Amino acid sequence: MGFWPLTGCQTVPDDSTWQRFEYVNPKMGTKFRLKFYAPNQVTAERVARLAYNRVEKLNAIFSDYSPSSELNHLCAKPHGKPIPVSSDLFNIIQQSQQLARETGGAFDITAGPSVRLWRQSRKHVQMPTADSLAAATKRVGFQKIRLNPRKRTVTLMSAGMQLDLGGIAKGYAVDEAMRILKQNGIRRAFVAASGDMLTSGPPIGSEGWRVEIRAVDEFGNIYPRTIHLKHQALSTSGDTEQFVEVNGQRYSHIIDPRTGIGLTNRIAVTVAAASSTVADSRATAISVLGVNKGMDYANSEKLQVLILTMGNKKHRLLKSPHWKLW
Ligand code: AMP
Ligand code: MG
Repeated sequence: MGFWPLTGCQTVPDDSTWQRFEYVNPKMGTKFRLKFYAPNQVTAERVARLAYNRVEKLNAIFSDYSPSSELNHLCAKPHGKPIPVSSDLFNIIQQSQQLARETGGAFDITAGPSVRLWRQSRKHVQMPTADSLAAATKRVGFQKIRLNPRKRTVTLMSAGMQLDLGGIAKGYAVDEAMRILKQNGIRRAFVAASGDMLTSGPPIGSEGWRVEIRAVDEFGNIYPRTIHLKHQALSTSGDTEQFVEVNGQRYSHIIDPRTGIGLTNRIAVTVAAASSTVADSRATAISVLGVNKGMDYANSEKLQVLILTMGNKKHRLLKSPHWKLW
């Protein structure tokens, strides 16, 4: 057990003798990982449980799969009426709406009806009919949400709206899990939910947490590039294992809200940012914007963005001017 020297007016623990602990738990439909340094196993387990409890609570609010989630309760309420919601739900919707405005609706949490159609397509390996597509896209549009921050209410302006937080909720949960770790004295940690990760201080004796990113060599081939991450979030969206292929065309689980159809551009977007909520949501948004508009957006927001475009043979990697990880 280390001692706690005083530096200025702040107490900083000497954690040089702390041990590393790793946990994996199925949460939010994915493997939710925690790696961190703690003084002993009892502390590590207590803190890990607190972090997972927080994620569990957020899932009960944000899930669009669970009929009893706060999100689905909100969507089931009559339209046109202001509904009071929890601060977590209000917060995440408010941040989503800001991003929707910034990206001209490329990021849109009202795309739920289209996302649900896409899930059906994936199940039956069949494209939705033109009628069902039209019916779904009619219920989509971020302008159909009204927020009242003072009263913390959400009004869904049209009938049949379905919100989907899949493009931002994991990032939010990762941020919250890290906040719980910090609150409990854990300063060297790695938190990840599939493509969304966040790091605080580096592992003892290392410059950062080892992470592999798909990069492209001079011949246009993809290779795994190792980077070391600390005090930063990193999210990747886009061309993953989540797609459906119909008649030789590959459709991603990310939807273009204007057409209601899954993206067909083969790109993967990685965003590095201070918060996982920002990295997660921007990675999804830039996937929809595509290479040119996505890079313009990255520039205007000074975002660290990496776009991998996949051609038939040759792949390309584009970095935004603010990309600093190599
Ligand atoms: P991610 O893996 O973070 O890129 O998020 C993908 C998920 O975001 C999908 O599975 C949907 O739940 C949701 N989604 C799909 N299209 C959009 C969109 N255009 N805007 C916001 N969320 C979306
Ligand atoms: Mg995302």
